[in-house]
Parts: sequence; C-alpha cells; structure tokens
Amino acid sequence: MTLRDSFGRVATDLRLSLTDRCNLRCTYCMPADGLAWMPREEQLTDDEVVRLVHIAVTRLGVDEVRLTGGEPTVRPHLVDIVARLSDLRPRPRLSMTTNGTSLTRLAGALRAAGLDRVNVSLDTLSADRYLAITNRDRLADAQAGLAAAVAAGLTPVKVNAVLLRGVNDDEAPALLRWCLDRGYALRFIEQMPLDPQHSWNRGVMVTGAEILASLRTEFTVTALSGRGSAPAEVFAVDGGPGTVGVIGSVTAPFCAACDRVRLTADGQVRSCLFAREETDLRVAMRAGADDARLAALWVAAVRGKRAGHGIDGPAFVQPVRPMSAIGG
Ligand code: SAM
Ligand code: SF4
Repeated sequence: MTLRDSFGRVATDLRLSLTDRCNLRCTYCMPADGLAWMPREEQLTDDEVVRLVHIAVTRLGVDEVRLTGGEPTVRPHLVDIVARLSDLRPRPRLSMTTNGTSLTRLAGALRAAGLDRVNVSLDTLSADRYLAITNRDRLADAQAGLAAAVAAGLTPVKVNAVLLRGVNDDEAPALLRWCLDRGYALRFIEQMPLDPQHSWNRGVMVTGAEILASLRTEFTVTALSGRGSAPAEVFAVDGGPGTVGVIGSVTAPFCAACDRVRLTADGQVRSCLFAREETDLRVAMRAGADDARLAALWVAAVRGKRAGHGIDGPAFVQPVRPMSAIGG
C-alpha cells in the first residue's frame, strides 16, 4: 500500500509533531502568552507514536520522518523516541526541525540515538530583534545550538528564516553571509497564514521575489534546476558551491509535487498544512483498531488530499489549528 492521493501524488515524507508546546513565542506562530495546550491525555504516548510510525514505514511506504512541533526538544523522552524510530526496519531517514535553543545539551545524544540531521530556525542575527520576534532572549543559545549540531554530525544543517516586514526584512544578505561562512544551508520561508491571531495578510508578507531582490544587492544569485518535491527553489550564490533556498509557499506553491503527510501530536492525520479535515488515528487506536485498520484509515485520509492549498484563492479559509499544533 502507498499513500496515494486522487491526483497521483504519493506521500513518503512524514512530518511528525511531538508536541504543540514551545519554549519560544515567535509572533507569527504563537501569542506571547502561549496557547491553550493540548490536554496531556490527548497527546500520543511514546508507544503510540512509535506504533504509528512503524505502520507508516512498514505498510505505507513512508521513508522519511521529520520530527517537529511546537518545539520537539521540549517533548520528554525525545532521545529515546528517536532511538526507537531509528530501530524501525525499513529505517526511515530521520530529521528534526527545531529552534535550536536546546541543541548544546541534546545534539550529541540525538545523533547517537540515530537522528540524521536538523533544520534550525533563525530569523535574525540581532539579540534585540530575536527577543522582539520570539519573545525570548535566546539568540546566543540558538547560535550555539547550530554549532553543536555541526559538531555532533547532524549535517547538512539547514537554517530556516522567516522575514517580517519592518522587523528583519533588511537582514537577508547578512543572514546568508553568516550561514555561508559556517556551512549552514539557508532557506527563507514566506510567512504563511497559520498564526493563531489570524493577523497574516498578503500585503505585509515579504515575498520570495523581494527576498531575492534583497539578496541580489550583495550576491549573484542564480537559479539551479531540479526542485523535485522539495519546497525550496535553490539558487547558487556567487557561482557556488554555496546555495540559498527560497520557500515561496504562498507566491510559488509546490503543491503539485508535494510528497508530505502530517501526523499531529494528538494523532490526527492531515494531508496538508492547510487541510481543514483530519483523520483521528488516536481514538481509533485506543478503541482497539489493529495495524491493518489504522493503515486503511491513513490511506483514506491521504486519498482525499486537495490539489492545492488555495491561499491565493477567494475561497481560502485558514485552518483552525495554528502552525504550532499542526507541526511545521
Ligand atoms: N519549533 C520548531 C522551529 O521553530 O523550528 C519547529 C516547529 S516551527 C512551527 C517550524 C517552522 O515553521 C519554523 O521554521 C518556523 O519559522 C516556521 N513557521 C512557523 N509559523 C510560520 C508561519 N506562519 N509562516 C511561515 N513559517 C512559519
Ligand atoms: Fe516555537 Fe517554532 Fe513556533 Fe517559534 S516557530 S513559537 S520556535 S514552534
């Protein structure tokens, strides 16, 4: 069985959210005073997480698992969960998206447990701006976490940056130089309408085209072909080998080549970040469904995936769950 939708796309890349909680409060993701967290009893247990990923890799053709959240490093027993996922056969590729602030403590143990690589989110090089964007004074920890990831061999390390108009939209060239100097692969992500405050608007979003124009004030940036199912358009910087990526989720959607499926921390399958439907594997599992039944539910959930997210269309409705509760 594979996770094939009605448009012929096959999902092989599982975004697995381990928690909706976080130690930061990025303005585009969470309100400053946090959110009403998922009740603990609704969160999948470690055994349930491992069981569902086992089903995904043995029955459904998933070959890549990206741990995310919320902030995956605040999940208790994270290292143990990684070790158990790494023991699965066939073994999926294992990566994690994190704000990096805990990596000085965790990078070595995560690598030893079987994590292959990390994406670290870093939107600015200024401590004041980091505080303004994340509501926490943790820039030095995030930067040290990046160095720890390289030292532990969690490579290639990618850096994700979101630019916000009037806040850090002048920083694209500086971020790129900083990442190139350290061997991190930088990707800019267009801000998407997934904030719980519903404050996103198209006019305020910094577009991929604006990001490229800003980079071109200091670098020669040339498109490389072969985006495949990767969301980022990748560009060679100053003739290479350094590169930069731009994820134009809004202005250059990659839905037609999407190979992702998402599982939330409370066991809901979502076929898209912007899906409005979810399939509840937790309740089915706790009611006694066997692996074959859970796999069938998962297949049915993906079959109904829409052709695209339609952010640009008049009928677009923002999903009820914010990014932190879906798993970015
Ligand atoms: N806490 C981890 C982190 O920040 O990397 C993992 C979860 S976070 C939701 C995953 C990624 O989504 C981060 O790179 C973050 O910048 C990005 N993100 C969050 N809200 C977003 C939004 N509204 N638009 C675009 N990207 C967003
Ligand atoms: Fe936390 Fe990541 Fe959301 Fe920032 S983007 S608040 S680090 S989950």
